[in-house]
Amino acid sequence: MSESAGETSYDLVIIGAGPTGLFAAYYAGFRGLSMAVVDSLPEAGGQVTAMYPEKMIYDVGGFAEVRGRDLVRGLLDQAAPFKPVYLLGRKAEKLESVEGGVIITLDGGQVLRAGAVLITAGIGEFTPRPLPAGDGWLGRGMVHFVPSLKAHEGQHVVVVGGGDSAFDWVLALHPVAASVTLVHRRAKFRAAESIVRQARELGVRIVTDAEVTRFLDRDGALAEVEIQVKGAEPEVLRADTVVAALGFTADLGPIESWGLQIDHRAIAVDSTMATPRERVYAAGDVAAYPGKVKLIATGFGEAATAVNNIAVMLDPEAHLFPGHSSNAE
Ligand SMILES: Cc1cc2nc3c(=O)[nH]c(=O)nc-3n(C[C@H](O)[C@H](O)[C@H](O)COP(=O)(O)OP(=O)(O)OC[C@H]3O[C@@H](n4cnc5c(N)ncnc54)[C@H](O)[C@@H]3O)c2cc1C
Repeated sequence: MSESAGETSYDLVIIGAGPTGLFAAYYAGFRGLSMAVVDSLPEAGGQVTAMYPEKMIYDVGGFAEVRGRDLVRGLLDQAAPFKPVYLLGRKAEKLESVEGGVIITLDGGQVLRAGAVLITAGIGEFTPRPLPAGDGWLGRGMVHFVPSLKAHEGQHVVVVGGGDSAFDWVLALHPVAASVTLVHRRAKFRAAESIVRQARELGVRIVTDAEVTRFLDRDGALAEVEIQVKGAEPEVLRADTVVAALGFTADLGPIESWGLQIDHRAIAVDSTMATPRERVYAAGDVAAYPGKVKLIATGFGEAATAVNNIAVMLDPEAHLFPGHSSNAE
């Protein structure tokens, strides 16, 4: 890393701190490259942290099962010896090609110069669908994700939504919260039948054909919500936290205008994970080629392929094969 004229320079800038970007950071370090990892979310881990930190994952090599948050922790620990610079809560807005490198401009104007850029932007920036009654309550009792169950120990929690995520949060929160109520505006759920059944068997209160109409505070803190069940009188529920799990919209946003070949929100790459644009590579969910399977395991392999090829592009004397990590000191 080096600084000059308001620019910070790295060998590699990785856009997206999901599992693919985090593994790429480890690999870049292993190849002796300096790197920064940019993500518009405030926490690393991409879809895993945002959507299913408490779920078990069964198809990551080497783990019979691993909880989402533990996988992300492991990825951060693995990369840590190489001191990646994490620029979280920062969106990559602009990409320009310059002599011998690329320039990435972040929202807020920060400028990064790099020998190469690896786009690991997954499904893009995801924005939670809003809960109208909760306008102004985000961070004051309303959340869209539950990064830590501990924060909800002993709380009364109302989960709003009818999809898999809503039921996942219900099942995860049930053992720690004082009460969990699910409120859904239809009678039918989008969630898998098995998890709806599990929630019912646990005795979770499920209120259907109902909407949250008002957030009510006590001394400025969320204390209750009012719900309106179709054809009934409004009801007030205790609520220290409302989890608004109404789904997300995902969007590649600025990346769409970077002159790449993009189809169905995915960037075309060759077998080295290079895009046709010089010094620009992509890996993970965002990268497309015939036969692509969007999985964490695939992203890990693609990250290794991309970074090893980037190492050679940056230094043509370098070997493509990195050597075995088991031989590293
Ligand atoms: C509910 C659910 C369960 C799943 N279960 C499994 C499973 O069991 N096994 C499995 O293999 N896969 C599973 N997946 C899929 C898996 O999570 C993805 O394949 C994986 O997260 C892809 O990793 P990634 O790093 O490529 O992208 P992502 O995890 O999507 O991370 C991309 C990151 O890029 C950031 N970003 C995007 N655009 C920008 C920008 N312009 N500037 C800055 N940052 C940006 C985003 O904020 C995001 O954090 C599941 C997905 C979901 C939703």
